[in-house]
Amino acid sequence: MKFIILFDNIPLVMKKSVYKLFFIFLTAAFFSQSCAEGEKEYHKADFALGTVCSVKIYTNKGGREVEKIFGKVFSELNRLEEIFSANSGHSVLQNVNDNAGKKSVEVPAELYSLLERAVYFAQKTDSAFNPAIGAVVKLWNIGMENPSVPTEENLKKALKKIDYKKIELKNGSVFLTEEGMQLDLGGIAKGYAADCIKTILLGEGIERGIIDLGGNVCTIGLKQDGSPWRVGIRNPVIGNDRSSAAYLEVSDKTVVTSGDYERFFEKDGKIYHHILSSKTGYPAENDLRAVTIVADTSADADALSTSFFVLGLEKSLQLIKSFPGVSAAFFMKDNSVTLAGKKLEVFKILDDKLFIRDNLMQ
Ligand code: ADP
Ligand code: MG
Repeated sequence: MKFIILFDNIPLVMKKSVYKLFFIFLTAAFFSQSCAEGEKEYHKADFALGTVCSVKIYTNKGGREVEKIFGKVFSELNRLEEIFSANSGHSVLQNVNDNAGKKSVEVPAELYSLLERAVYFAQKTDSAFNPAIGAVVKLWNIGMENPSVPTEENLKKALKKIDYKKIELKNGSVFLTEEGMQLDLGGIAKGYAADCIKTILLGEGIERGIIDLGGNVCTIGLKQDGSPWRVGIRNPVIGNDRSSAAYLEVSDKTVVTSGDYERFFEKDGKIYHHILSSKTGYPAENDLRAVTIVADTSADADALSTSFFVLGLEKSLQLIKSFPGVSAAFFMKDNSVTLAGKKLEVFKILDDKLFIRDNLMQ
């Protein structure tokens, strides 16, 4: 039985260049491995969208053809980064941010519709998911170089610049109506990118594979023996090794986890993680350690995992009712796990310390 251990996000501040060096051997070539009936496993990983992106496919296509497919996949990731990145000086998103309070900017249709989707989640979650949270994200700079705890004064100022209702979407153009506002799609863009890669692979006739963009996992089809993919969920305890806390089995679904261990920094003995509350401006604080979502599209799963992480267990259990087809596993700080939403055929705990408190799946 094959086991997929997720490539999670960079857990600590790690310079992109160091990461690139680490992965240089992966970018130089892709790996292949023989499987039954002429089908081979091909794997390629590289750094994109601020994280490690890994794609594994199973096919009887030749190496040359696979190389071309991987080429398409990774140039698609670079293309998406040029549109969605909140950390590059020249992305389309950055251009929208630079024009906040000044003028409306015409954007590519896919940015426009992802923003519409992001605003939908902001409405559904009463700003727990907030695509306009950029000003606060930038103040903390978590996961980037030199993160720091902001002063109360700066935080207060930034909190005035994060009202998602001031994102004006009209006729393919975006206007941030207040100067200083900044969009940040870090909570949804990787999921969207995973969906795009899946579409490319399906278009190339790939019938089985696994896409893993920094923990946003998308599965294609079934394994060759007809069984579902087994996806490991990383142990959500900070400082724990990168072992799996649990696994679940899916086919053609996406599995996305948000947790406080993904990106964080420590200051004066306190841990500050990267998922922030629009209300306080501080890292969201509740009884949750991580949330895993299983859904049909990775963009939605990404937005929901971030949303639920901010909302906490009780509010999330209410909200999940309006998303039929979505399953969630809530990993709590007391080591209990609550399952909700659509029933999963297989969900198994691997870490002895964890236990299922409630299984509300139907
Ligand atoms: P990860 O990027 O580790 O997969 P998430 O999908 O939960 O984690 O997204 C976290 C990222 O989303 C942050 O790094 C930041 O860019 C952005 N973000 C932080 N807080 C929020 C929020 N409340 N709503 C929407 N996006 C957020
Ligand atoms: Mg997310």
